[in-house]
Amino acid sequence: MRRLVILGGGTAGTIVANKLRRRLDAAQWQITVVDWDDVHAYQPGFLFVPFGTYRPDDLVKPRGRQLSRGVDLVLEGIDRIDA
Ligand SMILES: Cc1cc2nc3c(=O)[nH]c(=O)nc-3n(C[C@H](O)[C@H](O)[C@H](O)COP(=O)(O)OP(=O)(O)OC[C@H]3O[C@@H](n4cnc5c(N)ncnc54)[C@H](O)[C@@H]3O)c2cc1C
Repeated sequence: MRRLVILGGGTAGTIVANKLRRRLDAAQWQITVVDWDDVHAYQPGFLFVPFGTYRPDDLVKPRGRQLSRGVDLVLEGIDRIDA
């Protein structure tokens, strides 16, 4: 089993994880996303909060709901990378 770790579960990390989950054989590749919190925010929506289009709660979701099945999520801070 090969292990692929994605640091940061924001927009970039989530999209990469979900795209790779579709492309890589789940029997051969384990994909793990690491982020220190479970709050995925849709940042462009922040622009509309002052105008009442969205409330802050509308723009945040648990990270696990954004990730495809077969992508593991670890909620931990990243303090170093040992390549
Ligand atoms: C107000 C606003 C409006 C925007 N409008 C647009 C738009 O219209 N169109 C557009 O394309 N883009 C827009 N953007 C930009 C877009 O939202 C960002 O470019 C995008 O979210 C960046 O994604 P990212 O994954 O690189 O970073 P992020 O989404 O910031 O993800 C980084 C992740 O890493 C995690 N992390 C960081 N450090 C650590 C650590 N030490 N340990 C563990 N986890 C860590 C964070 O918790 C976060 O989840 C806007 C941004 C803002 C703020």
